[in-house]
Amino acid sequence: MKNKKLSEYSIKGVSISPGLAMGRAYIYTDVLLRDHEFYTIKSSEKKEEFRRIEQALLDVTKDLALSAERIERELNSQIAGIFFSQAEILKDPELLKELKTELEVNLVNAEQIVKRVFRKWELRFRQIQNEIISCKADDIVDLSRRLIRALTGINVHTLERLPSGSIIIAKRLLPSDTVFLSRKSAKGIVTESGGPASHAALLTREIGIPAMGKVNGVLDLIHQGDFLLIDGAEGKLIVNPKEKTKKVFNSKLKSRSAEFRKNQKKSWGPAVCRNGTVVEVMANVSCRKDVEFSIENGADGIGLFRIENIYLSRKLPPSATELHDEIAKVIAPAQNKPVTVRLLDIGGDKKLTYLNSVGVDDSFLGRRGIRFLLEYPELLYTQFNALIRLSEKFNIKILVPMVTFWHEMKIVREIFEEIVQLTNCKRKILLGAMIETPAAALCVSDFLPYVDFFSIGTNDLTQYTMAAGRENHTVIDYFLDNHPAIFKLIDSTMKNAGQVPVSLCGELASEINMLNLIISIGIKSISVAPSFIPDIKEAIRSI
Ligand code: PEP
Ligand code: MG
Repeated sequence: MKNKKLSEYSIKGVSISPGLAMGRAYIYTDVLLRDHEFYTIKSSEKKEEFRRIEQALLDVTKDLALSAERIERELNSQIAGIFFSQAEILKDPELLKELKTELEVNLVNAEQIVKRVFRKWELRFRQIQNEIISCKADDIVDLSRRLIRALTGINVHTLERLPSGSIIIAKRLLPSDTVFLSRKSAKGIVTESGGPASHAALLTREIGIPAMGKVNGVLDLIHQGDFLLIDGAEGKLIVNPKEKTKKVFNSKLKSRSAEFRKNQKKSWGPAVCRNGTVVEVMANVSCRKDVEFSIENGADGIGLFRIENIYLSRKLPPSATELHDEIAKVIAPAQNKPVTVRLLDIGGDKKLTYLNSVGVDDSFLGRRGIRFLLEYPELLYTQFNALIRLSEKFNIKILVPMVTFWHEMKIVREIFEEIVQLTNCKRKILLGAMIETPAAALCVSDFLPYVDFFSIGTNDLTQYTMAAGRENHTVIDYFLDNHPAIFKLIDSTMKNAGQVPVSLCGELASEINMLNLIISIGIKSISVAPSFIPDIKEAIRSI
C-alpha cells in the first residue's frame, strides 16, 4: 500500500518538453508487470501452445506495419522506421528456435515462455557496452509487451483510452506508447527515465506536450487521479496543489497562452534588436505539419529540414523522383521562403534498416552523416538530383551534415558541380557545411573555398565537445550546450568565417536567456522548433 500524501508537495526532475499544464494523474503501468496466467501443459499440447505463439508473432508483425503506416501518414516521423526494425527482430530464426526450445523443455503456457525468452534477450542486449546496441533492449521489451497483449487478448492500448486532460505518469515511455498520444488527451508527461534527446522526448516536443523526466520512484510518489501541475520548462511538478497554488498556476497558464497568442500575431514581422540588427528566425522541421506550424508562427523560412524521416520510413531508399515529390509535399507551405534542406544525416540513433547488413560502423562516433554518404555516393547523387529539380520551384539551399575535414567539402562540392552541369542547371544553389565537430569549428577557414554558408549544429557540437552522448540521460549534467567551451567554438567559427554567413540551428538557439550572447557574437540567423518562434522573435526585439 502506498503511503498517500494528501498535502501539497513538489517534485523536481529535468525538463524534456516546455509548457505548463494541469490535470489528473494517469498511472501508466507496463503490461509486463501485471500478473499473467501461469500453468503447465501436457507434452501433447506443445504443438497447440506453439501455434498460439506463432499466431501472436503474426498479429504483432501486422500491427507493427499498421503502426508504421499510421505514423508515416500523420507525422512522417523517424519513429516509423523504429517499427519496421522491430518487425525485423520478430523474424529472427534464433528467436523462434529459442521460443520453441523453452516451450519443449519447460512445458508451461505461451505467456510465460514469451516473458522468459524476451527477458533473456533484453538482458543480453543490456549487457553490451554499446549505447546503440543496448538501445535494442528497449525494442525487445516493447515487443514482449505487444506479444503478451496479443496472447492475452488485451488489444486496446491503455493510452488509446486515456481520459482527456490526463497527465501520464510512467516509468518510461517507448515509441509504441507515444503513437497514441495527442495534445487533446495528454496534457503532460512525467517519467522516471529517458533523456531529453530520447525518441519519446523528440515526439513530445514535436507535438507540444509539456514533459519532464528523471523523477526517481515516480510510480510510488504519485497516485492515480492525483491533481497535478506541470511546468515542463522548469522540470517541476506540484502534486495535490492547494486552491491558492492552483489559482496562481492557472493565471500563469492563462497569461502564458495569452502572451503566446500575442507574440504569434506579431511574429509575422521581422525580429529586430533595439540597435537595428535584424535576426532571421527560421524553423527546424521534419514533416509537413511542422512546416505548416512554422508558417503559422511567422517563421522567416526553413533553416533546417531534417530529411531522415523520408528514408527511415521506407523499406528501400527513395529514387530521385520519389525524393523530389516527398520533399515538395512537405515544404509546399513554405514555397515563398528560403528552405535549407540538410543532406541525409544517417547514423547515430538514426539507422536505415535496409543497410543493417552492410556492417558499417555508423554509431555517433562512426560513419555518420557525410562520412556515410561519401561511402555510398549513390545516395548523394539521388539527393543532389532531387534538390536541383526542386530548386525550379523552391528557394533551396543545401546543407552537409557531420563534416570534419575541409576535403570532405571539396569532394562534395565537386560532385555537386558535376551534377549541376549534367542537369544543365543555371540557378545558383547555395551549398553549406554544418559545424558540428570541434575539428570543423576550429578549422573553419580551411573550408572557405568550398562553402557558401555555415550552420552550427550545437546538439552534436555539444556531445562531441563535452564527451556526453545526447541520448544518454545518465550524463545529462555534462551535456551543457551553453558551456563556455561551446561559445568559444561558436566565436571562433564566426571570427574565421570571413564573408561566409553563419547561422545556428541547434537547440541552444531556443534558449531565450542565451540569445543576447549568441547575437553579440555576431549570429544573425537562427533556426528553432516551430513552437518557439513567436517567443524568440519577441525576445530578440527587446535585446
Ligand atoms: C545539431 O546537431 O545541432 C543539429 C541541428 O542536428 P541534429 O539535431 O539533427 O543532429
Ligand atoms: Mg547534428
